[in-house]
Amino acid sequence: MKYCLDCGDAVNGRADKKFCGDHCRCNYNNSINKTRNDSVKQINRILRKNAGILENLSRQGVEITTIPTLRAIGFDFTFFTHRLSDPAGKVCTFCYDYGYIELEKEKLSIRRAPEGKS
Ligand SMILES: [Zn+2]
Repeated sequence: MKYCLDCGDAVNGRADKKFCGDHCRCNYNNSINKTRNDSVKQINRILRKNAGILENLSRQGVEITTIPTLRAIGFDFTFFTHRLSDPAGKVCTFCYDYGYIELEKEKLSIRRAPEGKS
């Protein structure tokens, strides 16, 4: 006996049938998409927060900060959008249009993405 992946009712019919009907199939697929969308939203939230932290510091005139300082105000180093090398060959890690370059001893230089490259 097979059971519907959505509602758990017994499924009759072809051996490869997974749902008792279209309603359950849609419901099941929607819930998978919702989970996927929720995790995308969660990651976007972290990335926007990271970018916002760098933007705020930059607007306050802060050019150099440290890894512990950013962590303390909620920056999550696990997530970033892309990496670019600056003309000197240093790698800048971006969260959308704001990023940082690692200097020595956990020091970071805050950078804004060049226009049109974010
Ligand atoms: Zn069902």
